Amino acid sequence: MSREYETVIGLEVHVELATKTKIFCGCSTAFGGAPNTHVCPVCSGMPGSLPVLNRQVVEYAAAVGLATNCTITQCCKFDRKNYFYPDNPQNYQISQLYLPVCRDGKVEIETADGKKTVGIHEIHMEEDAGKLIHDEWEDCSYVDFNRSGVPLIEIVSEPDMRSADEVIAYLEKLRLIIQYLGASDCKLQEGSMRADVNLSVRPAGTSKLGTRTEMKNLNSFKAIARAVENERRRQIELLEEGRPVVQETRRWDDNKEYSYPMRSKEDAQDYRYFPEPDLPPVVISDQWLEEIRQRQPELRDEKLARYKEEYMLPDYDAKILTSSKKMADLFEETVALCQKPKKVSNWLMVETMRLLKEQEMEPEDMAFSPENLAKLIELVEAGTINGTIAKEVFELVFRDNIDPAAYVEEKGLKTENDTDALREIVEKVIADNPQSVADYRNGKEKAIGFLVGQTMKATRGKANPAVINQLLKELL
Ligand SMILES: [Zn+2]
Repeated sequence: MSREYETVIGLEVHVELATKTKIFCGCSTAFGGAPNTHVCPVCSGMPGSLPVLNRQVVEYAAAVGLATNCTITQCCKFDRKNYFYPDNPQNYQISQLYLPVCRDGKVEIETADGKKTVGIHEIHMEEDAGKLIHDEWEDCSYVDFNRSGVPLIEIVSEPDMRSADEVIAYLEKLRLIIQYLGASDCKLQEGSMRADVNLSVRPAGTSKLGTRTEMKNLNSFKAIARAVENERRRQIELLEEGRPVVQETRRWDDNKEYSYPMRSKEDAQDYRYFPEPDLPPVVISDQWLEEIRQRQPELRDEKLARYKEEYMLPDYDAKILTSSKKMADLFEETVALCQKPKKVSNWLMVETMRLLKEQEMEPEDMAFSPENLAKLIELVEAGTINGTIAKEVFELVFRDNIDPAAYVEEKGLKTENDTDALREIVEKVIADNPQSVADYRNGKEKAIGFLVGQTMKATRGKANPAVINQLLKELL
């Protein structure tokens, strides 16, 4: 007989910070360089090399901590986490175990049942490992140390989430906070944001935590949702059959929608942590912390409230516009140019969202300028082009960031307001469509719509429909 089970989920989220250089050396963090070109003795683990901490890493970590209501550890330290793996040239990772930079935070998420708080246990700073490339054709493996030493923060939540929906809401919340801070682009596909899911189940109403597993290799929100659902079911099935859940790390294969064990889960003691002897403690003075606090930008929740108040936008619009930093920036910059918030909002909410969806793009990938969107809005407002032409021109603005004013001029797309020329076209349309004309005269009001359409077609969409309507009525 199946009992009710409660799912308990905590997340470990790794975020690559947007610094130009690595955490302990001056090598570039740029994504996609030729293998082993962003490497020096420090980040390739040469004996005798010494790490020097990148100040910007501390500032980003503290900024994320402040934005997630953490207490900042003003004297924090680094520790060595020892393990052997071929992508880790030092055979240890410099991380933080005993005194992480941020602790005891929380964020509020929106769930189907209302608002909920998810606790943040800690945020620590650490270095990333290199990357292994397995060449099945040559039957060998290569290692690329470009990523070795790229700065990471790891955000460890409390086990406060109960469903896949809550996990996604929490991740979206974190992603928005971090993107708004400019601390990372948080792209799951490129690995600049990675989430490991710790999950256990327990009989509903009990408080003792069940044995948890950790799932890795989750590189999209959809994959995370599927993996959570799958693992929850797997553990319940084991318990129902009276078999134990084994504490282990599992790898999710999203194509097969199946996870398999990678290794039994190590505890902290397996890593033989000890204080990093090559780095002094990090002291964040009151003054430095205050400087970081002063630099905090307006975050999503504040922006959302301001959009509704300052621009009188509905909640729905404000939510979409602030759902990415890129969209919010584009909105504000365009409004600053044309002073028409509702019009700008409409272009972003309708046509922009449609094209993003159609082309499977993220808002961050949009490349058109606020100047060109503002120009397009001005063209429509001034009656220079009509709505249909505007949508066509916008597709080109969206795709190639063209100058809409120049394009409209060059292609002769201005609305035909020359009534004499239009009158001639309308007369021809009337002569060519005797049936519709007769219908209209016999009281079929709708027939005029067809004649408007035919006239629009004859002017290649450039005419002002209101003017055509008036002319038609006059001539009929
Ligand atoms: Zn280096």
